[in-house]
Amino acid sequence: MLNIVLFGPPGAGKGTQAQYLTEHYQLIHLSTGDIFRYNIKNGTELGKLAKGYMDEGQLVPDEVTIKMLQSEVDRHEAANGFIFDGFPRTVEQAKALDNFLSDKSWTIDHVPALEVPDEELVNRLLNRGKTSGRSDDQNEEVIWKRIGEYNDKTAPLKNYYEESGKLRHIDGVGSIEEIFGRLKEAIG
Ligand code: AMP
Repeated sequence: MLNIVLFGPPGAGKGTQAQYLTEHYQLIHLSTGDIFRYNIKNGTELGKLAKGYMDEGQLVPDEVTIKMLQSEVDRHEAANGFIFDGFPRTVEQAKALDNFLSDKSWTIDHVPALEVPDEELVNRLLNRGKTSGRSDDQNEEVIWKRIGEYNDKTAPLKNYYEESGKLRHIDGVGSIEEIFGRLKEAIG
């Protein structure tokens, strides 16, 4: 079992790197953002609820997000392990994840944190917005709101994972291959 929380602000490259890591380590990739977008596309109640928050660049409430993530993990009981991409984003979510995994005698093994300067994040997201079809990538105000949410609610999680010795700072600037190399080195 290998469980990785891929940490980093919006636009840090979590989704791209998670795809590489998933293949390399044969894991299940769980992106809460992707799951919300899937629900929005399919017009589910969850999607309707999440959309309001996502359009504003705000976090979806913990209770809803945690429940959704847990049911996704439960669907993959036989997995080799998971890459959590975009989850947890609050201390509440991190604690819920730890408790939920420990009920299964599982644990988080590695928390690589991709570090990218804010200006580069905004440029990357605006660029991605030209092709991603994501409205939250096309509006600079919403992008800054997402970065603000990250700084207020998600960055404090670094302390949480630092205390358990799992956090590793990874330079998130460079080519996809370079960054993937750094991640593999950190994970081992
Ligand atoms: P992402 O695809 O990770 O950039 O997430 C897009 C949006 O989905 C975020 O701006 C949030 O509104 C919502 N979202 C994704 N993951 C979470 C989470 N763990 N907690 C709360 N909201 C989330």
